[in-house]
Amino acid sequence: MPDLKYVVVGGGIAGVTCAETLSLFAENATITLLSASPLIKTVTNLIQITPNIESFDVEEQPYKHVKEGHCKVQVIHTTVNSLCAQEKRLHLSDGKTLDYDQLCICTGGKPKLIAVDNPYVLGIRDTESVKEFQKKLKTAQRIVIVGNGGIATELVYELEGCEVIWAIKDKSISHTFVDAGAAEFFMAHLNKAKDNSPEGLSKRLKYTTNECEVMMSDKKPVMGSALGPDWAAQLDIRGAQQMSHRVHVEHEVEVERVLSPDDLTLLGLKACSVDQGQDFTNWPVYVQLTNSKIYGCDIIVSATGVEPFTEVFLPGNNIDLAPDGGMKVNSKMETSEPHVYAAGDVCTACWDPSPYWQQMRLWSQARQMGCYAAKCMVAATKGENITLDFCFELFAHVTTFFNFKVILLGKFNAQNLSNDYEVLLRVTKGQEYVKAILHNNRLVGAILIGETDLEETFENLILNGLDLTAFKDNLLEPGIDVDDFFD
Ligand code: FAD
Repeated sequence: MPDLKYVVVGGGIAGVTCAETLSLFAENATITLLSASPLIKTVTNLIQITPNIESFDVEEQPYKHVKEGHCKVQVIHTTVNSLCAQEKRLHLSDGKTLDYDQLCICTGGKPKLIAVDNPYVLGIRDTESVKEFQKKLKTAQRIVIVGNGGIATELVYELEGCEVIWAIKDKSISHTFVDAGAAEFFMAHLNKAKDNSPEGLSKRLKYTTNECEVMMSDKKPVMGSALGPDWAAQLDIRGAQQMSHRVHVEHEVEVERVLSPDDLTLLGLKACSVDQGQDFTNWPVYVQLTNSKIYGCDIIVSATGVEPFTEVFLPGNNIDLAPDGGMKVNSKMETSEPHVYAAGDVCTACWDPSPYWQQMRLWSQARQMGCYAAKCMVAATKGENITLDFCFELFAHVTTFFNFKVILLGKFNAQNLSNDYEVLLRVTKGQEYVKAILHNNRLVGAILIGETDLEETFENLILNGLDLTAFKDNLLEPGIDVDDFFD
C-alpha cells in the first residue's frame, strides 16, 4: 500500500505542532509541512502548571529545525497559491503542485488595519513588522495606538521614550481580557516608570527571536508567523524622548479617519494636545477620533485584531466560513470540505463547546488545536473514533500585563451569562486582583492577577462543578487556605 500523504500548510505554532504530532502518530505516511516563512515557530520548555494551564518558551527557528527533531517531516519553504479540494491538490507559488490524502490548513491570520497602504499606519504581527516598527519608533515623539487587546496592552506597557495616545473603543483598558475592575487595578500602573532592574523583571514566559532575517518567499507578502507570548518584553522599543511612560487614554472612541498635514489644512481642522489645548506641532500624520478630537503623531499602530487568512483556499471549493471569517471546523477539526482540516487562528470552532471553554485566538489554543487536528487526521485514516480533547473542557490562559501575572479561567468575563451570576472579589491595591464568577453557586470562571496561588484550586472547582453555597463567603478570605475546605 502506498504511503498516506499528510500535508500541513503554515509554519506557525498550529502548523508545526500538527506536523510534529503527525510524525509521532502516523504510520506509513509522508508528512509535508509547507511554510511561506523561512522561520518556523517551535514550542520549547513546556511546563504544565495545572492540568489545563501551561507555560512555554517559543522559539523561531530556521525551517530545517523541524526535520532535525522529527525526521519523518519534510519541510518545504513555499507559498500555497490555491487549493483544488476535489482533486486533493495544492498549487504552489513555484508552479509545482502537491497532492495530499489529508490536509490541515494552519495559515493563521492577518492584521485588520484601520488604513491600508498608509506608510504611517503599522500593524504588528510578525518579526518583520516589529522590525519596521522599531525602526520608525527611533525618531518618534508620539504614537497613537488603536485597539484594546493583548497586543495594544503589551505595547503600551513596554514602550518608553515616547508619548502614547491609546485610543480604545471600550469604557476600560485591556477589555478583550479583563473587566473594568481589573482595568482600574492596572490603570495605576499605566504611567509608572518601569522597573528595568533584574529584580523588577517578572518571571515572564520567554519569547526568543532568531536573528535570521525574515524574507518573504516571493514578491507577494505572505506574512510570517504571528508573534507570541512576551514578544514586546524582549525587544528594545523606545522612542526619541528621554522619558519612561506618558500614556493618555481616549475611551470609547474609534478612528474616524487618518489625515495628512495637507488634509488638515485643506479642511481647516485643528489638532489638540493631551491637555486639550491646541497642538501647533507639525506632525507627519493625524488621526481624527469619533469624539471629534484630532491628534498628530509620528506613527499609528493599528492593533485592532486579526482576520483569518483563508482567501487562497476558497475559490472553487466549499469551505464554509463562520461570521468572524474563520474556516468552520467541527469537533474533529474538519472543515466542510472532506479531507481538509484547519487549526489555529485560521479556524473557528463550531462544535458545541463545554460550558467553560471559548475560542480565543491565542498561542495556547493554536498549539492545542494543531496537536488535536493531527490526532483527528490519523484517527480518520485508521477509521477510529476520537473524542474531543480534554484541553477544550476549560478555557485557561496565562499572560503578563503591566508586569503582573494574569491567569484567566473559564468564563472569566461572565461570557454568555447575561446577569445571571454572582461575583466574589478580593483586591489588594498594587498586589493582586482576584475575581471569581459564580453561577448557580458554582464557580464558572476567574480572573487571577498577581501571585495568588489560586489557579489549581480554582481550576478544580470549575471542573468539579462543586456547590459552593456553604463556602462562598469564605472562599476569598485572605489567609485562608481554600484547599482546607475541600479536604
Ligand atoms: P500563525 O502564527 O499566524 O502562522 C501562520 C503561518 O502560515 C505562518 O508561518 C505563515 O507564513 C503561513 N502561511 C500563511 N499563508 C500561507 C500560504 N498561503 N502558504 C504557506 N504558508 C502560509 N497569543 C498568546 O497566547 N499570548 C500572547 O501574548 C500573544 N501575543 C501576541 C502578540 C502579537 C503581536 C500577535 C500578532 C499575536 C499574539 N498572540 C498571542 C496570538 C498568537 O500569536 C496567535 O494566536 C498564534 O501565533 C496563532 O498561530 P497559528 O499557527 O494559527 O498562526
